[in-house]
Formats: sequence, structure tokens, C-alpha cells
Amino acid sequence: MSRSQHLVLIGGGHSHAIALKEWQKNPITKVKLTLITNVLQTPYSGMLPGYIAGFYRFEETHIDLKKLTQLTQTKLVLTTAIALDLIKNQVICADCAPIRFDILSIDIGSTPTLLNIVGSEYVIPAKPVPQLLEVWENLLKCVHQNPEKPISISIVGGGAGGVELALNMRSRLQTILPSHLITFHLFHRGQKLLEHHNSWVSEKLEKILREREIQVHLGETVQSIQADELDFYKINCQSNLSIKTNYIFWVTQASAPDWIKHSDLSTDSSGFILIKNTLQTLSHQHIFATGDIATMPDYPRPKAGVFAVRQGKPLVENWRNFLLNKPLKPYFPQKTYLNLIGTGDKKAIASWGNWGCQSRYCWQWKDYLDRQFMEQFT
Ligand SMILES: Cc1cc2nc3c(=O)[nH]c(=O)nc-3n(C[C@H](O)[C@H](O)[C@H](O)COP(=O)(O)OP(=O)(O)OC[C@H]3O[C@@H](n4cnc5c(N)ncnc54)[C@H](O)[C@@H]3O)c2cc1C
Repeated sequence: MSRSQHLVLIGGGHSHAIALKEWQKNPITKVKLTLITNVLQTPYSGMLPGYIAGFYRFEETHIDLKKLTQLTQTKLVLTTAIALDLIKNQVICADCAPIRFDILSIDIGSTPTLLNIVGSEYVIPAKPVPQLLEVWENLLKCVHQNPEKPISISIVGGGAGGVELALNMRSRLQTILPSHLITFHLFHRGQKLLEHHNSWVSEKLEKILREREIQVHLGETVQSIQADELDFYKINCQSNLSIKTNYIFWVTQASAPDWIKHSDLSTDSSGFILIKNTLQTLSHQHIFATGDIATMPDYPRPKAGVFAVRQGKPLVENWRNFLLNKPLKPYFPQKTYLNLIGTGDKKAIASWGNWGCQSRYCWQWKDYLDRQFMEQFT
């Protein structure tokens, strides 16, 4: 490498956090690193429901990007990337001058899809996580101040995220309010919860939800939301089912931001960046993408933090190979992977291919793995 190079990272997601930590072990001195991030502390998805349940403190569940960038001599720019100029090789930012790059790496996650929903301004999307947590903290404050007032909460989306959120929110509220004052609804378009998991896991979770008095509405597509009386919203489904509720949390299928769709990067029909198994984009070999925002057309996988985490090490290795003009190494995502789903009672369900089980040991195992993951950043 003759001249110094600028490697710019957008988003401090799971892959970038791991890649930065690995880079520090063996940096290339002629390469300058910049991280563009819109938060200083990025959430670790595995522990987010546990934080909501009150099992963890904020610092235990968030990676401190300021500390991480200081450790790795990376320049941190606190702003939101809003566009790419791929002719000038620049990232356009919300509140600073464009940032020029030689190599770009994108790990910005995803947000739940809200397409075609009338009244979508009344919902609380599960991502960005900081906004979700702000609403949750305010909700808890209100509940503490009015311990005799009933509350109704609705979750839209019956994937792993929605189910885990419902169970963990309910379990936290139960420590403050008597059960008869709490109403919970979970809406899911499909006939089966957690469609990416085996039948035992989805049936078991449905049973647990019902046992915890969470009303599960399967085969229901939410069509519109109306502001009703003070503090109430009305959820209207295609089937004519209509339910009044105080809070609507939205945890549906992942979607990509428009600025990615409008960049010249190759994207799929949903706007996710298409990447090769070297984690380079299909359209630009000097641009890498990982985590939820990236899709490997030859290896379709659900959008889950576990893949973003796994991509961290191959990503840093291929940044290095690219910078040193060496051949890049392929990364093959695993087909079956272990999922540990917390049920809000310090138990978890383990799901692996066609196998599943629930126990306190699964929670202890999950807790151990999650804490080990976070320990590398402290
Ligand atoms: C409630 C819930 C529970 C979940 N639980 C699990 C689980 O237990 N296990 C699991 O595997 N998956 C889980 N998931 C899915 C998981 O959250 C995602 O798959 C994972 O976070 C993706 O990681 P990522 O690195 O792609 O992005 P993220 O972790 O979302 O990180 C992206 C980062 O980029 C930043 N950013 C975004 N846009 C910009 C921008 N324009 N400019 C600058 N910075 C930007 C964000 O602030 C964030 O810090 C859960 C999801 C939800 C909603």
C-alpha cells in the first residue's frame, strides 16, 4: 500500500463493534479509520428483552462506542448518514460536511416495516432501539405514578422479537401492577408464531403467552390505527377485529432505509444491500455491508443479530485483505443456528433446527453467553 487509506464505517452495529475490536489487535498503520454513528451506545440485541424485563442495567446491555473508538484510534463522528455519493466516494451526513472514503463498510441494521398503515404515526417501532427505550422508560414512570390505573399494551408482530418483547414487558409490569390491571394483545399476520422456528418452539411460546394472559390474535393483519379517546388508540384489522389500547409496539418484518435504496448500490426488491460471500457489495468491491442491512442472495437467512455477530471477524479479515491486495476469503453463514429466547421469567427456550427445549438452564446458558459477549467490550 503506497498511500494512506481512509476506511469509513457507517453504523456501530454488532459486526462493526467486533471488527473494530479485532482491528485493534492487528491494525494497518497506514489506514485511518472513521466511525459514523448516530448513537454513542449501541444496544446488544440478545440482552435487549432482558433489559426491558429489568434483569440487566443499561450499561450491561449497550456497547460504549466512544470507548471502543478511543481504544482503536478510530475517529468517531456523531451524526446520521443520509446519502452516498458513489462518484465522489463520499458519505453525506445530516449535520457535518461530507466524509470521503477509500473503503466503506455499512452496518446500520434495519427498522420494522410500516408500509401502508394508516395512523402509523401512533405506533412505537422496536427500532431504533433508543426511541423504543425512551417510550418504555416513560411508560414505566407513568405506571409507577398511577399504580391503580389499568393499562393495555399491544404488540404487532409475532416473530421472535415481538414474542420476546411481549413476555418481557408483561413480566416487568407485573412487578409494579396487579395482573388484573394489565391487558396485553399480540397481533400476528400468520397462523403460526415464529415462522422461522420449528413447530414445537412456536406452539410452546403460544402456550406460554396464553398462560400469561397475553391475548394472541393469529391471522390478523393490522390495517389502520386511529387516535380514540384520551390515551387510547384503536387498532383495526382487515378481519374487522378492532381493539382499544394505550400503547402499540411495532415489531414486524425488517426494512431498509430509503437512502440506501436511492444510492447506487445493488439492492434487492426490499432495498437491502446485496453482498457477495466476501461481504463486498455486488456493485462496488470497495464497499462492504453486513448485518441486517445486507442480504446474501445465495444464502438467504433471517435478519438476526446472530448473523451480524458472526460476520464481524470475516469482515475485518477481508478489510485487511482488500487493503493489502490479497485475495478475499469467503464467509458461509450457517444454516442452522442456536436461538435462545428469553420468556421473561429467567427461563429460556432453546431452538436449534427441529429441536427445542425450555428450562431455567437455558436461561442461565443464554445469560452466560450474552455476558461473555459483552465482556469483550468492557
Ligand atoms: C425486540 C427485539 C429483540 C431481538 N432479539 C434478538 C435476539 O435475541 N437474537 C438475535 O439474534 N436477534 C434479535 N433481534 C434482531 C436484532 O436486533 C438484529 O438482527 C440486529 O440488531 C442486527 O444487527 P446489526 O449489526 O445489523 O444492526 P444494529 O444492531 O441495529 O446496529 C446498527 C447501528 O447503526 C446505527 N445507525 C443506523 N442508521 C444509521 C445511520 N444512518 N447513520 C449512522 N448510524 C446509524 C444504529 O443506531 C445502530 O447503532 C431482535 C430484534 C428486536 C426488535
